[in-house]
Amino acid sequence: MKTLNDFNFENKKALIRVDFNVPLNEELQVTDTTRIEAAKATIVKVLEDGGSAVLMSHLGRPKGVEDNFSLGHIVDAVSEIIGVQVKFVNDCIGDKVEQAVADLQNGEVLLLENLRFYGEEKAGDRDFAEKLSKCGDIYVNDAFGTAHRAHASTAIIAEFFPEQKCFGFLLAKEIESLEKVLGSSEKPVTAILGGSKVSSKITVIENILDKIDHLIIGGGMSFTFIKALGGDIGNSICEDDKQDLALDILKQAEEKGVKVHLPVDVVAGDDFSNDANTQVVDIYHIPEGWEGLDAGPKTNVGFSFVIAQSKTILWNGPVGVFEMKTFSKGTIELGNSVADATAEGAFSLVGGGDSVAAVKQFGFADKVSYVSTGGGAMLEMLEGKTLPGIQAILD
Ligand code: AMP
Repeated sequence: MKTLNDFNFENKKALIRVDFNVPLNEELQVTDTTRIEAAKATIVKVLEDGGSAVLMSHLGRPKGVEDNFSLGHIVDAVSEIIGVQVKFVNDCIGDKVEQAVADLQNGEVLLLENLRFYGEEKAGDRDFAEKLSKCGDIYVNDAFGTAHRAHASTAIIAEFFPEQKCFGFLLAKEIESLEKVLGSSEKPVTAILGGSKVSSKITVIENILDKIDHLIIGGGMSFTFIKALGGDIGNSICEDDKQDLALDILKQAEEKGVKVHLPVDVVAGDDFSNDANTQVVDIYHIPEGWEGLDAGPKTNVGFSFVIAQSKTILWNGPVGVFEMKTFSKGTIELGNSVADATAEGAFSLVGGGDSVAAVKQFGFADKVSYVSTGGGAMLEMLEGKTLPGIQAILD
């Protein structure tokens, strides 16, 4: 696996695909700089070697050229984080851009305009990729969030840099962390899957069953299992048509020697609201008119017991409606257990949009081994798929 450290960027122009798809407020200011900070190490390495960096990214979902989606709005934020005044050119291909690249001096950074102003980007157009490739000597992919897409700048472009291409630090770390969990992980390996739907995680479960010892199933998706096992789940969310699948997963797990841990009790609410009346009930006997919205106290103790014994932990999805304070306790306790296990030497990887939001919101981000930045890309890797953006560098 070729990474940045395999190259010396002295007098070289690095063409870096970053993921600067950051949220902007109504004044078009960046409201969360996490993704820019995540790319900093890669950019700084190029500059410290004595080279220059040309950054390309998408932002939002523009339909053609739309000023609201211009990367020009993030230049100040990027400059502040990188510590260099970033130059900007209001296009990403063509003579003007190539001139700006040619004028770039060692130690300087140039940000190109939003790649998705061209439909060719998402279409994976080869001519467009070739034009982009004129903007640097070495291609660096550091955009994990789009690595599962075969877009011009994330995959197709790599063929124009047969030898001169590598992963950035962020993407390399993502791959290493996932390989740590899926590869020769230290046992016992525990996967914690939560969130709302079984259907969105089914391929993940099937792919990881061979690699794990314990499977904790929590949150909304657990009710499909409980109902399939004969429980009364009241008004809890459930995918009725996935009950057979749930039973099949349990059977497969048993055959593979994977111990499955389902919740035993829940905090039920009489309404899907933070102000709902609540009661703790056995998960197999949820009264009509009530829905399970958080893991109950016995469940929390059981889950934390399993987590405390684990040496490798993968966590995707909350075990309750953590966005509402009334139903956030289970997810917080789970986060605490993962943090404690990590402090005791376990390797823990947290990923997937909502679990990342939860670990940040509750302050666990620094207490787990790695927080993945790419929701969709991570799920596809867990499903066992080869991501085009990764394959293109390996080819
Ligand atoms: P997902 O995108 O499938 O990972 O699901 C994440 C969402 O699942 C979060 O927004 C949670 O609020 C929601 N969730 C977790 N547990 C429950 C539950 N018991 N009932 C309804 N929604 C839930």
